[in-house]
Amino acid sequence: MKVTVMEDILSRNDKLASENRERFSRGKIFAVNLIGTPGAGKTTILEKTLAALKGEMKIAVIEGDLFTSKDAERIEKLGIKVKQINTTGGCHLDASMVTAAIDEIGIEGIELLIIENVGNLVCPAEFDLGEDMKATVFSVTEGDDKPLKYPIIFKEAEAILLNKLDILPYTNFDLSKASDDLKKLNPTCSLFKVAATTGEGLSAWFDFLRGKVKSKGEKS
Ligand code: MG
Ligand code: ZN
Repeated sequence: MKVTVMEDILSRNDKLASENRERFSRGKIFAVNLIGTPGAGKTTILEKTLAALKGEMKIAVIEGDLFTSKDAERIEKLGIKVKQINTTGGCHLDASMVTAAIDEIGIEGIELLIIENVGNLVCPAEFDLGEDMKATVFSVTEGDDKPLKYPIIFKEAEAILLNKLDILPYTNFDLSKASDDLKKLNPTCSLFKVAATTGEGLSAWFDFLRGKVKSKGEKS
């Protein structure tokens, strides 16, 4: 019984997600679903990304959060179009929330849409939002066992950002073990080792996004 209900929810979600994906493709908008644990540094990475790219392309942001609008306020300060979605305790965004958000902010002329999901490594992997790519953020303070414990979110990501590299010496995080596990789980993913607060390693991520936005823009 429970399984059937879940299948219904997911198939309804998938239908809406493909409608979103269709809109993104008509508008030549590259959409990123940014996923990660709370405190992994998603919003800091997002801020740095927006600061680096906002002069080159039109960007909009959807901020998913359990309750507050603190993250959206941080984004707004950068002069970026942002819509806050509060899930009031819900642990993931779904496609209908994204549809409502893009209807409200309008995505005409937008080239890059970044959707920051609720901090959670489990169900955001199951709910397609219509994005072009999932990017998963995790950090060295969370432990090198995370990829094997939460394989789906790492398998489905096209980009993985391993954050807080600057404090690696103060942790027992085994960088080569984590890299090996990630390569085994997801051999084709692009792995970025970064320190969002110092900016280390981020330029490769910016270039990667520039390439994605450019090729989406060229598709007819
Ligand atoms: Mg955040
Ligand atoms: Zn959830």
